[in-house]
Amino acid sequence: MTFQDLNLNTPLYNALDDLGFASPTPIQVEAFNVVSSGKDMVGIAQTGTGKTFAYMLPILKNLKFSEQETPRILVLVPTRELVVQVVSEIEKLAKYINVRVLGVYGGTNINTQKQDIAKGLDILVATPGRFYDLALSRVLQLKNIQRLVIDEVDVMLDLGFRHQLINIFDILPERRQNIMFSATMTHDVDVMISEFFKSPERVSIAVSGTPLENILQQRFNVPNFYTKVNLLNHVLQNTEEYNKVLIFIGYKKLADLLFENLDETFPNQCCVIHSNKTQNYRLRSIEQFRQGDNRILVATDVMARGLDIDNISHVINFDTPDYPENYMHRIGRTGRAEREGISLLFSTEKELESVEKIESLMKMVIPLMPFPETVAISEQLTEEERPQIKELHNPIKKDETFGPAFHEKIAKNKKENLGGSYKFKIAEKYKKPKTRGDKNYNKRNKKK
Ligand code: AMP
Repeated sequence: MTFQDLNLNTPLYNALDDLGFASPTPIQVEAFNVVSSGKDMVGIAQTGTGKTFAYMLPILKNLKFSEQETPRILVLVPTRELVVQVVSEIEKLAKYINVRVLGVYGGTNINTQKQDIAKGLDILVATPGRFYDLALSRVLQLKNIQRLVIDEVDVMLDLGFRHQLINIFDILPERRQNIMFSATMTHDVDVMISEFFKSPERVSIAVSGTPLENILQQRFNVPNFYTKVNLLNHVLQNTEEYNKVLIFIGYKKLADLLFENLDETFPNQCCVIHSNKTQNYRLRSIEQFRQGDNRILVATDVMARGLDIDNISHVINFDTPDYPENYMHRIGRTGRAEREGISLLFSTEKELESVEKIESLMKMVIPLMPFPETVAISEQLTEEERPQIKELHNPIKKDETFGPAFHEKIAKNKKENLGGSYKFKIAEKYKKPKTRGDKNYNKRNKKK
């Protein structure tokens, strides 16, 4: 496939020539027609695959010259560094096109940005927080936005931007194309797609299901979190072999819990990265691990994505990823540059379904290892693992048999729902506002 096959225009061809790009990357080929068609799209692509041009090529090809001042394209990215990078990429590609591009992000003077916006623009690249502030200030008019691109949506959700994004969806014109890029597929991304996107087309470069031959894979059946900790402590005793160990775990809360436990057994040997840690903390952790000051790094999938560290002796999948692609990305961190690498997978019974998905993607069974006899099985359960507490002696629930779906309410539940008025009744009774700022109450009382 060549750029000629994409039917671009002369200004774009000239820019690509200047850049020295010979042919489109796979994600650029895959995304081109979908973005051009105006359909919602979800692209799964990592940084470095050419994903910025994957959406910018079709967008720029179809963007007509206009003198109107309000933006027509909005690109949201999680960090200010990415704003700068994306703006610079767009400027390179739009070298011979008359298009106005502006990047805005937080932590800098908003008034200068307001002045820049007032000058008129076509493409706005922004971090969500600053974009929302500018939109609320009404300097930024949104009525002409036709296309919304959200880049690195996994990182954005991991950083806690979910509500900010939902607020932004609310103020954008309803008739618009949504284009979303994510490097990893996570549960949060999945939820966002199904809640806010109109049957989006999924575009991804197939993750190779063929693991590198020099990665030795092993699997352990382990009943629960704390037994996994015991098993981990057991294997990590072997400091000689386990000299650079990257441990993956899906959730940041569990990453912290695991880190605390490991740090007790192996003080000054562990570090952790996830999105609730500051950038400085993360960089320090990665550096300590890279240089070998710490031999153990605990990381979440999203944060470990950009890691480029050589000589990792072992990847340990402390949990089994739900999306098999994530497993491929995880184990690909070891066994690089022809060296032997080992990957261990810990899975509970609940995770066996995910194991099957991984095995069917790889078309191979991960060898199951016997559970070491010396490792203690823990009875301790995490909050998530504890069974739901059943109500004892509840006369409504006779034994364990299920009744009809609808039944008479019990007396306690038959009470009228007094809704808001209940608040006023209480307020009346106690003769003072429930909160100092209860202006409605004060207003009502004044009238009386
Ligand atoms: P991205 O994945 O968007 O961060 O892009 C990664 C790098 O690949 C950037 O430096 C781009 O300039 C470059 N790039 C994008 N498209 C191509 C292409 N078709 N051929 C070669 N390099 C490219």
